[in-house]
Amino acid sequence: MSEKFDVVVIGSGPAGYVAAIKAAQLGLSTACVEKWVNTKGQMTFGGTCLNVGCIPSKALLDSSYKYVEARDHLAVHGISVNAPVMDVPAMIARKDKIVGQLTDGIAGLFKHNGVTSIFGTGRVLAGGNVEVTDSEGNTQVLEAGNVIIAAGSVPVEIPPAPLDGNHIVDSTGALAFDHVPQKLGVIGAGVIGLELGSVWSGLGAEVVLLEALDEFLPMVDAQISKEVGKILKKQGLDIRLGTRVTKAEVKDGKVTVSYSTIDSEESIEFDKLIVAVGRRPLTESLLADDSGVTLDERGFIYVNDFCETEAPHVYAIGDVVRGPMLAHKGSEEGVMVAERIAGNPAQMNYDCIPSVIYTHPEVASVGKTEQELKADGIDYNTGVFPFVACGRAVAANATEGMVKLIAEAQTDRILGCHIVGSNAADLVQQVVIAMEFGSSAEDLALTVFGHPTLSEAVHEAALAVQGHAIHIANRKPRNKRK
Ligand code: FAD
Ligand code: AMP
Repeated sequence: MSEKFDVVVIGSGPAGYVAAIKAAQLGLSTACVEKWVNTKGQMTFGGTCLNVGCIPSKALLDSSYKYVEARDHLAVHGISVNAPVMDVPAMIARKDKIVGQLTDGIAGLFKHNGVTSIFGTGRVLAGGNVEVTDSEGNTQVLEAGNVIIAAGSVPVEIPPAPLDGNHIVDSTGALAFDHVPQKLGVIGAGVIGLELGSVWSGLGAEVVLLEALDEFLPMVDAQISKEVGKILKKQGLDIRLGTRVTKAEVKDGKVTVSYSTIDSEESIEFDKLIVAVGRRPLTESLLADDSGVTLDERGFIYVNDFCETEAPHVYAIGDVVRGPMLAHKGSEEGVMVAERIAGNPAQMNYDCIPSVIYTHPEVASVGKTEQELKADGIDYNTGVFPFVACGRAVAANATEGMVKLIAEAQTDRILGCHIVGSNAADLVQQVVIAMEFGSSAEDLALTVFGHPTLSEAVHEAALAVQGHAIHIANRKPRNKRK
């Protein structure tokens, strides 16, 4: 006899585990199927995010930055210390402990909320049932009133740079180096490449990022990406744009990387090479031929705005569907889908999803960039406030960067916010909340901000939209278009 559930979730990453917990909280009998086995051979929850993504990368970024602070930023405070010494295995062990703590936490939350955990590989059958195959090859079929596919994504591999698990690695391998490579190459200067490059560059590696595109961070507001490029260059990251990797070869413990630029073919030698050229949805062996679930032209599971697939009662959320590959985007889709299955009205605001690059300083944004608004022909005003004019930033020696707020010219409604600077990830969230409430720049400008805080830079940027900032010389306000 097969087991029956109101909801079967496939995948326990941030999309799947949140969907499962929410569904259970709403009174639906819920199972979550997961196949992840960690490096200790244990089956584990949390998906990419907790095991090899958001959390471990931030754990290493934080360790790396502590080292940078101890090495470079204490003298100015009058503190002298001996040159810090990095124990890389200890740093990695700390990261692994954090991962263990948080993945165990999901198991605990499942238990607490009554979610049934099923270890094995799930496959969607016709009629919305789910076949689960365990590690010994035994199968069972779960009868599912509703299926939520949250199978996530995996790193893209490129033929010119085949992974060997030692010298040429993907993002997962780059979270587990046992020493600081002297010379580190990174293919791809996107979000993951920059974060991982920063970890090892902070610890003393000479890092070269090889990026095929001519433009740096094209999805970021152009004024901000220009500033980010300058800051990272000053930190020693060697970012080479218009550089397409054509071959990577391991010989005598070194990786020789060949690449082409607009006018030359060159090669460069590294101790390690990280391939960080993006991620792709994981759909292999996930769908029976007659499941009724279809893929779009880019290989993502096709869904509508409510994450409904083309098969009745089968939903898909997170990295396996269109939209930004961000943990919180998948989690919110999970909540929406669980609510809708429970019969409650719910929808996602895809225009209001924050996005962060956790370099030091951080780069954070929400909403439209100037270049997008220009392309759409929308009139807007901008307010920019540099951290160098923010008292708290000066006191904290965190004066790099700026806050930029963009508001619609006609209505003053906030359309976007783009920040590079210390704690940008937390600062941008204030604007996310404002945007969610349909706030105008003036609403934010009329709000009282505590002093002294970095948040005051957000306040001043809002004031600057109409040329009313207090702590900088205002430029004349003007509407912008094209
Ligand atoms: P995943 O987290 O990939 O989880 C999918 C789960 O489904 C996995 O556990 C997988 O084993 C399981 N699964 C797949 N197929 C099956 C099957 N057939 N049967 C059973 N189980 C299955 N995002 C952010 O928002 N912020 C960040 O700071 C950030 N940093 C990142 C850093 C790195 C290095 C990487 C690689 C990613 C980062 N991301 C970040 C992206 C983030 O990790 C993903 O967007 C997020 O994990 C996607 O969640 P998901 O639940 O859709 O999929
Ligand atoms: P992201 O999608 O943000 O993770 O970034 C991945 C980056 O890798 C993109 O900017 C791609 O342009 C870049 N990329 C992909 N293939 C290559 C290649 N062969 N050589 C250099 N860069 C590449």
